[in-house]
Amino acid sequence: MILKRDGEIIEVNKAFLELFKGRKEELIGKNSNDIMPLKILSESIIKCKFDSIEKSEQIRFGEHVLNVAITPVMVNGGLNFIGITLRDISAFVQIERALLKRNKELGIINTLSGTFISSGDINSVFADLLEKILIVSDFSLGWIVMKEGGSFVLRNMSGVSLGLRHELEKGELNTLYDNVVELTDPLYVLESGEMERIEVLKKEGIMFFACIPLRVGPETIGILVLASRVEIKFDFDTAAVFSLIGNNISLIAEKIKLFQETQRLALTDGLTGLYNVRFFYDMLNKEIARSRRYHTLFSLILFDIDDFKIINDTHGHQAGDDVLRSVASILKAVSRETDIVVRYGGEEFILMLPSTPKNEALTLADRIREKVEEYSYLGKETVKITMSGGVATFPEDAEDSKTLLYAADMAMYEAKGKGKKQVCCYRRINETSI
Ligand code: GH3
Ligand code: MG
Ligand code: MG
Repeated sequence: MILKRDGEIIEVNKAFLELFKGRKEELIGKNSNDIMPLKILSESIIKCKFDSIEKSEQIRFGEHVLNVAITPVMVNGGLNFIGITLRDISAFVQIERALLKRNKELGIINTLSGTFISSGDINSVFADLLEKILIVSDFSLGWIVMKEGGSFVLRNMSGVSLGLRHELEKGELNTLYDNVVELTDPLYVLESGEMERIEVLKKEGIMFFACIPLRVGPETIGILVLASRVEIKFDFDTAAVFSLIGNNISLIAEKIKLFQETQRLALTDGLTGLYNVRFFYDMLNKEIARSRRYHTLFSLILFDIDDFKIINDTHGHQAGDDVLRSVASILKAVSRETDIVVRYGGEEFILMLPSTPKNEALTLADRIREKVEEYSYLGKETVKITMSGGVATFPEDAEDSKTLLYAADMAMYEAKGKGKKQVCCYRRINETSI
């Protein structure tokens, strides 16, 4: 299109007429200020005239996005005409937008799928996940509540003020969470009217608030909350991002559960829930290496239930299993958090006690033995359980895991030999004869 200095249109090409959807006669002789989309350009046209240099800008016209170049046409050093070139870049803009959206989605998928793998600790996984979601999305704050003992407990948070944190810890939003769980929708976006009514959110200046329930099978294990202090339009794109996060995060929760369960099964004994022998050997070797390196000591207590065969034979195998479970829970209850309690064999148990000298291990062993003796199986008949135990300490009694276990075994057999229901400490051969 060509304009005169004063803005009068003197020539337009076919492509412009197609865009304008009009006839040439309607345009020629008119002032560009009276015609859309040229009206939008009036300021740039004036600047072009004034500065005598080319101006460019991007404008919207209906469905179109146009790149505009406004060029001064100089004749004999003076500005005579203004050329206007419009380039329809709508298709590029659309592609660019689609690419950006896809890029964001890929970012989220990548983030979410990368999160799991390395850790079985559900809390650290979700903390990591939350940070990453906030980075790749438009939300500026978020938190995760996990269902524990029937109510929601705040687990991770990001971008949350101290005030809001206190309110959340007090369980201010628990009713809302309950509603979210009850609705069973994959996503719950709070209406602005509802938001007004929730004092905590209003105080925090939250303009957008959404909950994504974390589901493992039919069970809701927690809720991911994403929020923003600036308004976010809930359009198709936002919904797509949410559904992406929701889908993936539940999958992740499911995987973590599975991972934890597999780990637990691999490390523990099915009947008693205590650690199994495989895990014990692993820990024993590590403890020996640590003791050597830092010159510390540790003790083992080996317990064997006395006359267990008789218990099985007179009360049945089922009752025998119950006894094993009860003894296991006594061992767990009496021992310390750092001790490792193991089902070593059928009716044999081992406790590994880090940084514990022999005399302390013996005291603990006797206490456990007494506790077990107090226990009686209250099935059809009452049974008294007794145990024999052996204590061995590293490094004073042995030089490696094999000899240490042998030492604990020898001490336990000494207790059996002395009439059972007692604990003996290992003594080296030359000492035994004293
Ligand atoms: P002692 O006082 O000499 O240790 O005699 P004991 O009868 O305890 O020892 P013995 O080794 O002769 O018998 C152990 C019994 O433990 C035999 C076995 O059937 C039983 N047992 C092993 N594992 C289990 C189990 O998982 N459940 C039940 N109910 N019994 C088990
Ligand atoms: Mg035995
Ligand atoms: Mg036994």
